[in-house]
Amino acid sequence: MTMALCFNCGHTKFGAICPCPECSVASTGDMDLDIAFSDHRMSVATLGAFGEVVRAIRRVCEDDQLRFWSFIRFVSVNHPEVLGVNMPADQQAECDAVLARASPLPVTIEEAGVALLMREREQRDDSA
Ligand SMILES: [Zn+2]
Repeated sequence: MTMALCFNCGHTKFGAICPCPECSVASTGDMDLDIAFSDHRMSVATLGAFGEVVRAIRRVCEDDQLRFWSFIRFVSVNHPEVLGVNMPADQQAECDAVLARASPLPVTIEEAGVALLMREREQRDDSA
């Protein structure tokens, strides 16, 4: 079973497309996005750290859409390798204002266990 981030409340839930048990919001409808923030791509600890970012934004912003885009903005600025998004300048400014108020903690991305294991094996092959 997949562990995935709930973009609405920051809970780490079972199943990328299942409704969240905490807030009953289902997937974003964007499969790529749901998979990007699942344990297929990053460790469960990393999902938890992104969950804290969602919670930090929730504390300062009540608008669902703006909260969602602020999170996306946070990721695309700090972790362009996970997600890059182009949004209009005025929307960027709005999101940046939310992020400035939320001041979420930086996230260190750990890759999913499988990806990590593959790379360790490659490195071992190189040194042999
Ligand atoms: Zn939720």
